[in-house]
Amino acid sequence: MTAATAPSAACPAGTGGKMEDYLASGRSVSGPLVGRMIAAALKMGECNACMKRIVAAPTAGACGVLPAVLLPCGETLGLPDEKLVEALYVAAGFGRIIAGKASISGAQSGCQAEIGSASAMAAAAIVHLRDGTGRQMANAAALALKSLLGLVCDPVGGLVEVPCIKRNVIGAVNALTAAEMALAGIESRIPADEVIEAMGEIGDMMPAALRETAQGGLAATETGRKWGEE
Ligand code: SF4
Repeated sequence: MTAATAPSAACPAGTGGKMEDYLASGRSVSGPLVGRMIAAALKMGECNACMKRIVAAPTAGACGVLPAVLLPCGETLGLPDEKLVEALYVAAGFGRIIAGKASISGAQSGCQAEIGSASAMAAAAIVHLRDGTGRQMANAAALALKSLLGLVCDPVGGLVEVPCIKRNVIGAVNALTAAEMALAGIESRIPADEVIEAMGEIGDMMPAALRETAQGGLAATETGRKWGEE
């Protein structure tokens, strides 16, 4: 993640708080766990955009996925911090494999390599929270990454705000659904190693306009260009 991270005039703080207010109203459709994941992912993405302290795991743009998964899930399941630390090690292991076999850089392989990798790491971590097997972790990572293959990197104005902040939400929720499938015994038809390799190959085929240059995708829309100029 190399796009500029300086806050724009429209530093988009407040969406996480809005989500929390909505949850507190009792009108949420998805329920407390998913609702809290959405709020946490937004808040972390906002913290990054507003130059607050974050942990770039695997990147700054995708920093909201792991905390949005681990903290609400750990609390819901009543798990001790030690278990969450173990899950972070699991996530780090999967991240290391993805970085080695493909990429975790939006500039190199698009957002599939940032939000997609974060989602795969988080999916494996959730499986660990439920004492799943290594095979289930690999399947969870594969299922998560598969669902985000081809996702382009198109930050409006070159700033890690739009669409980055809200993409952390799909990364987190996608990780949860992938982990649930893996824990249920559902397997990815394509093994994790091959999914990761495919992600790298898709990244190599992506035009430069869709790899963090802010020249294509949402950054090139009429509104995206206007915001970029502002
Ligand atoms: S759109 Fe690009 S800069 Fe934003 S999170 Fe995705 S990879 Fe990172």
